Amino acid sequence: MAQFWSNSIVIWPLLLSCLCLNLARNMAEFPRIEHYRKRNVDRIAFLVVGDWGRGGNFNQSRVATQMGDIGKKLGIDFVVSTGDNFYDDGLKGVNDPLFQLSFTSIYTAKSLQKPWYTVLGNHDYHGNTEAQLSPVLRKHDNRWRCKRNFIVGAGIVDIVFIDTTPFVGKYFNNSKNQKFDWKDVLPRDKYLSALRKSLHLALSKSRAPWKIVVGHHTMRSIGHHGDTREIVDQLLPILEAHKVDMYINGHDHCLEHISNNKGMMHFLTSGGGSKAWKNDIHYGKNNDTVHFYYDGQGFMFVSLTHQRANVLFYDVSGKPLYHMRIRSTDKKFTTV
Ligand SMILES: [Zn+2]
Repeated sequence: MAQFWSNSIVIWPLLLSCLCLNLARNMAEFPRIEHYRKRNVDRIAFLVVGDWGRGGNFNQSRVATQMGDIGKKLGIDFVVSTGDNFYDDGLKGVNDPLFQLSFTSIYTAKSLQKPWYTVLGNHDYHGNTEAQLSPVLRKHDNRWRCKRNFIVGAGIVDIVFIDTTPFVGKYFNNSKNQKFDWKDVLPRDKYLSALRKSLHLALSKSRAPWKIVVGHHTMRSIGHHGDTREIVDQLLPILEAHKVDMYINGHDHCLEHISNNKGMMHFLTSGGGSKAWKNDIHYGKNNDTVHFYYDGQGFMFVSLTHQRANVLFYDVSGKPLYHMRIRSTDKKFTTV
């Protein structure tokens, strides 16, 4: 009996601390980067590009040149990357020459020398994910800010960046041909559950007039991959419950704008940073409305004020393709 009690004295505190650690992990807040601390920022503007790193090939350099020009003309605070940053297999390590070849020496325009807030895509998971997440990369290029999940606060907007690759079941079931670096993601269920809770927490706490979520995978898309079922099932209800204004993604190598049936939430794909395919259209079975689809290279510009949001898409030659505007008072949107 005495032995039982002496063991219990050792075991119970251990069990309790494990439970607390587990709860803490499940309710952990995403790290927050304050781009601007002040709430009275009048205007925030940024470019969005995805699916880009190919050493300048497949028009990556041409898109980069136009991003530089539009960034200068319209003025931007930062750049958002929607992932698949380095093809085909991410980075091998922090000293992989691809980082210089596909990022630093491509996006050279003065207007693009701002923070690049970026998430990982499925191709980045083929390589060493820790390398892209490592602060060492900032020694190579100070613009680079990549985390799995994080929040960028910029006064009038909170942008929540989320790691969507671990949601996709086929990457786990079908991994014979493609290797994925799941370090720090397993056990998967725990990781995804914690992610959903932290996303819910981040959006609950947000007091910013505009709320945006960025992830690599599509939620609504008529491009090559179409909707990502797991993301629709597990994340869309959280975004709708918190009245998120925009979900921005890459993965499909196109530019598109789809709104939900109430016209209150906007699915924006900007995955035209390099390679793109023509005539690859797959209509999903839902009640959402496709307003714009372009199966070519290009990028997106977003500006936000207290009064309105403007979203513009540009092609590889800098030609404006589409412009939509959302009014902040009632969140009604119009095409311009
Ligand atoms: Zn992808």
